[in-house]
Amino acid sequence: MSEIALENLGKTFGDFTALAEMNLTIANGEFMALLGPSGCGKSTTMNMIAGMLRPSSGAIRFNGRDVVDVPMAKRGVGFVFQNYAIFTHMSVRENLAYGLRAQGTPAAEINKRVQAFAELLQLDTMLDRRAAGLSVNILQRLAIGRSAILEPSIFLLDEPLSNVDAAFRAVMRSELKSLQGEFDQTMVYVTHDQLEAMTMADRIAVMDHGKLLQVGTPLDIYNAPADTFVAKFIGAPGMNILNGRFVENAGVVAVEVPGLGTLDVPPTLQAAAKDKKAPNIQIGFRPEQVNASQSGLTMHVGFVERIGARTIVHLEHSGSTAKAVLPSDATPPLAGSDWTFSASDEAIRLFDPTSGQALKGRAH
Ligand code: ATP
Repeated sequence: MSEIALENLGKTFGDFTALAEMNLTIANGEFMALLGPSGCGKSTTMNMIAGMLRPSSGAIRFNGRDVVDVPMAKRGVGFVFQNYAIFTHMSVRENLAYGLRAQGTPAAEINKRVQAFAELLQLDTMLDRRAAGLSVNILQRLAIGRSAILEPSIFLLDEPLSNVDAAFRAVMRSELKSLQGEFDQTMVYVTHDQLEAMTMADRIAVMDHGKLLQVGTPLDIYNAPADTFVAKFIGAPGMNILNGRFVENAGVVAVEVPGLGTLDVPPTLQAAAKDKKAPNIQIGFRPEQVNASQSGLTMHVGFVERIGARTIVHLEHSGSTAKAVLPSDATPPLAGSDWTFSASDEAIRLFDPTSGQALKGRAH
């Protein structure tokens, strides 16, 4: 088991900053997802942890020891990439055994581990097939197995499921999670897919433009996004954010969204709302926390998507857009109509329109 600490970690390419001042500690046995859009610096961070890329600044510590000068082969990390690196001329068995053989593991032990991992990853029926003829799904499973069989104390996976099909991806999400549980590895998982991060990770580090924006458990990040970027990036669909202004009536603050109506500011955010000197504010609420209501905001129903277990209502008004997610047994509003809705107190989040940062309230 290994703790990974990134301390003021930075990487520049010429005058371009790919990663700035990253501080993140990944605990022993933790499953950490690095999540963010393409180009945000996830792979750069991962490649520095692996030892494939030298940091421009800062330190990387494994269990307290700075490993920046330790070559990749000596860091004790397993690494699986988006594009499986499999020896196609070898059989599945030979691929699985490759790393153990290179380490000089005795043959009987190799056979035992190959059999165990093949069963774990459902490769046992094809051990003697040549990798060349296997599907992309199976090859990626084999790539994970080939690295996992060495039981590295740190396991790094960079978008390992982005080339496999959707059904297989769902299966692999739970398999990877149980693999990590079984071997108690410290796992760092790079993805741009918030669903992957939300379903597998103990904690998620959300990144954008080379910066770490927020670190927390999936539910923390879902419930209390640090800023509007995280609010919109997490969730499918992401959080609704509308431009509004504070209005005060008898000492109680609400947010008016011009032309749409008002939503009450929950008691937990009243003090923060009153502290704010400028009247402009952004109000956020999750699509799945929207309910039909007598009062609140009124928007035009653009179209209604019925997708099995839920219905997504697309709303629009004077350039503002929002979405509501309703259970499939609720009667959705008609496309073309005006619909009035609100969100419960606990659902309301407020963001500074200039910085995008969330206003912090009292604990719920
Ligand atoms: P993706 O999923 O698209 O790979 P990412 O979040 O992993 O995205 P990185 O690969 O870490 O992003 O790249 C971060 C930024 O650094 C990008 O703008 C990329 O173009 C740039 N970059 C990465 N490697 C180099 C390099 N060797 N030289 C110059 N720029 C680079």
